[in-house]
Amino acid sequence: MVPGARLIILGKQGAGKGTQCVRLSRHYVVPHISTGDMFRAAVKSRSELGAKAKEYMDTGELVPDEVVMGLVAERLGLDDTKARGFVLDGFPRTVHQAKGLAELLAPDEIDLVVNLEVPTEVVLRRLAGRRVCVDCGANYSVDSPPRLNWTCDICGGEVVQRQDDTEAAIRRRLDLYERETRPLVDWYAERDLLAEVEGVGDPDEITGGLVRVVDQRREHSLGRRV
Ligand code: AMP
Repeated sequence: MVPGARLIILGKQGAGKGTQCVRLSRHYVVPHISTGDMFRAAVKSRSELGAKAKEYMDTGELVPDEVVMGLVAERLGLDDTKARGFVLDGFPRTVHQAKGLAELLAPDEIDLVVNLEVPTEVVLRRLAGRRVCVDCGANYSVDSPPRLNWTCDICGGEVVQRQDDTEAAIRRRLDLYERETRPLVDWYAERDLLAEVEGVGDPDEITGGLVRVVDQRREHSLGRRV
C-alpha cells in the first residue's frame, strides 16, 4: 500500500466517523483531522478560538464558516498534510465550506468522499450511549466501556459523556445535518467524487468496505495518470 490519500468522510453524528477515520488515517498513514476534536481542544485550553466556538457547540449549532475555514486553512497548510494528505472528519459540513476547501486545495483535488450511511434510529441509540476521553478523544460506549473505572485505555484520561450529547442538542445537530450537510452528498456525487458505504455492522467489516472503495479510486486515478 502506498501511503497518502486525501479523503473526506461524511455521515451523521454517531455514524461511527470518528472510529473509522482513526483507522483510515493509520491505514493510509495520513493525519486524522477532526474539526470537532480541534474545537474541543480549543475550548479545553480556554483559547480565543475556544471561547468563540463554545456557545455554538453547547447548543449543537454550527460554528460560523469563517471561523471553521480559518482553522482548517491553518491545519492544511502544515507540512504533513501537504506531503501525504488527510482524512477529514466533521468537515466540510456545508456547501460553502466544501467550496472553500476546493479553493484551499487547488490545483490538487480530493481523492474520494465517502458517505457512511446509518439510519437515524441507530445513531440516536449510539449517541445516547456514547462516551469519550476528555484528553485524546477516543470513543467508548456504555456497552463497550474502557477496561478500568472510566479511564481511557489509550491515555488514562477521564472518559465522560460529551456536553453536546444531550437529547435537545442531538436533535438539533441531526436536523442541521439534514439541512446543511446532506446536500454535500449530491454536491460531491455530481463531481464524481462520492462513494457510499453502509455504516451498520461489524466495525472491522465497515473499515474493510471503506478501504475497498478508497483503493478502487486510487487504482482508477493511477490508471488515469499513466
Ligand atoms: P463533531 O465532533 O464533529 O460532532 O463537532 C462538534 C461540534 O463542533 C459541532 O456540533 C459544531 O458546533 C462544531 N463543529 C465541528 N466541525 C464543524 C464544522 N465543519 N462546521 C461548523 N461547526 C463545526
